[in-house]
Amino acid sequence: MSFLIGVLALQGDVREHSNALRGVGAEVLEVRNAEELSRVDGLVIPGGESTTMSKLIDIFNMRQELENRIESGLPVFGTCAGMIMLASDVLDSASGQKSLGKLNVTVRRNAFGSQLDSFEKDVMFEGIEGPLHVAFIRAPVVESAGTGVEILARLEDGRIVAVRQGNLLATSFHPEITGEPRVHKYFLGMVAETKV
Ligand code: GLN
Repeated sequence: MSFLIGVLALQGDVREHSNALRGVGAEVLEVRNAEELSRVDGLVIPGGESTTMSKLIDIFNMRQELENRIESGLPVFGTCAGMIMLASDVLDSASGQKSLGKLNVTVRRNAFGSQLDSFEKDVMFEGIEGPLHVAFIRAPVVESAGTGVEILARLEDGRIVAVRQGNLLATSFHPEITGEPRVHKYFLGMVAETKV
C-alpha cells in the first residue's frame, strides 16, 4: 500500500524530505494550501525557520486546517523548526511566533547556542536498531515532556531530541540531511497504523 505524504512547502528543507520520503516508498505532495493539506495521509513539517514558517502558515491561510487535521489524528513528523511548530510551549521564541501547540512539550529554540550551532552525531532511537547518523542545525531541544509523550532519543547528557505523542513525531535533528532513511520509514509505519 502506498501513502500520499505531504511536505509542508512554505519554507525550509522541503526537497530533502521529499527525496527521503520517496526513498522509502511514499508518494509525495508538496503542500502549499489547505486544499492540498486535506488530501494527504501524513504530513512532514520540515526544518527551516519556525518564526518565518509560523507567519507563512497564516499568510497562506493554513493554520485552521492544520489544527483540524492534527486534532483528527493526521500523522505529522516535525524536524527541527517542525518540532518547534508542533510544540505547546516554546522558549526563546521570537515575538509574534505562534506554534500549533499540539505536542505536549516545552522546547528551547537554538538550544546549542552559536558555539556549536551545527554538527552531526550518532543517536540511538527507541524502536530503531543501531545508531542514526543525523545533523543538528541550530537545533532545539525538548526541555520537558508532559503526559502522553514518549521519549525516543536523548543525547549522552540526557537532553531529549526525539519524542512521540500519538500521531505526532518530532525530532530536534535532521535525518533527511545525512541520508538516514529509517526515521522516515518509522513515520510511514505510523501512517500505516492509522490507515488500518
Ligand atoms: N533555529 C531554527 C528555528 O528556530 C530551527 C533550525 C532548523 O530547522 N534547522 O526555527
